[in-house]
Amino acid sequence: MTLDRRTFLEKTAAVAAAGFLPRSAFPDARAWAPLPRAGRVCVVASSNGLRGVKLAYDRILAGTDTLDAIIAGVNITELDPTDQSVGLGGLPNADGVVQLDASCMHGPTNRAGSVGCIEEIATPSLVAKAVMDYTAHVMLVGEGAKKFALAMGFRPQNLLTEQSRQDWLRWKANLNPGDAWLDRRDDVKINFTHGTINMNAVNAAGDVSSVTTTSGWSYKIPGRLGDSPIIGAGQYTDNAVGAAGSTGQGELCIKACASFYIVEQMRLGKSPEQACLAAMERVMHMTEARWLDGRGRPKYDVNFYAVAKDGRFGGASLYQGGEFAVCDADGARVVKSAYLYPNSERPRE
Ligand code: ASP
Repeated sequence: MTLDRRTFLEKTAAVAAAGFLPRSAFPDARAWAPLPRAGRVCVVASSNGLRGVKLAYDRILAGTDTLDAIIAGVNITELDPTDQSVGLGGLPNADGVVQLDASCMHGPTNRAGSVGCIEEIATPSLVAKAVMDYTAHVMLVGEGAKKFALAMGFRPQNLLTEQSRQDWLRWKANLNPGDAWLDRRDDVKINFTHGTINMNAVNAAGDVSSVTTTSGWSYKIPGRLGDSPIIGAGQYTDNAVGAAGSTGQGELCIKACASFYIVEQMRLGKSPEQACLAAMERVMHMTEARWLDGRGRPKYDVNFYAVAKDGRFGGASLYQGGEFAVCDADGARVVKSAYLYPNSERPRE
């Protein structure tokens, strides 16, 4: 049966009058769930953010805005040439070009900013914030994002370190036995092809922010965007509830709208850890067969991190062994993540 617009409006108005629907299609978000009370300051991040959570926590205590504090926290990793998953020194795409993704959300003002596939700028988290602060847009990509960054005064630099260039050459040499590159199955093992930093924070007033920044899936097809620059996938904040973010296989997080889902689960009353686990189930629900082994176990890992408005925090991974960084009144530390599957169920290489 199809309803014309008028009949639909009349029917929904009648149902609403009978008390079955909210009076507005967009009720105040804060009415949807009991509000956690603001109180404890907490910063939570992927495990490579241990130095960053401490810096961000100290700055929040000193009065810095939550988003400025966590961006300062992730800048440490972005500017560290030895971290090959983020910013300067990040592993490049298939053409040997470092392309970076980042996004952020500022809870108190309900604003967001994002950049994708940006080149030659070491701190895409700050460019994402500049998109948020200085434009009416949310997302800029590629050449346009770089032009914008240059106009904002960011300095371009070569982000491909010698180590990352050597790893890329080794990847290229071993790509296809029939190509013209001689195999180099030698000295240095390329031990990961993913990595990212996500950081989320709440201050004593209950204001919340989130940021994620990455060089993405190494040796990716040029132009590929992961979850990190996508609002609702790589990170999400709702100041009424909390914030969440992800690292790991980005394509799966995009399909599950993972960070948004975690925040919505917290809104419905789940703890940050339960909400992260619920999102893991959601990721599995959305996972296509080619990503699964014969026993239905995923051939990748995904990690989630969350903080609630009242300072509770949590994290989860698909497989046992995940960790995340946190800083609150008990200090900066690495904590074990909850998980869906024990290590014994990881597919063998
Ligand atoms: N989520 C990132 C991406 O897919 C990579 C990672 O965190 O490992 O681009």
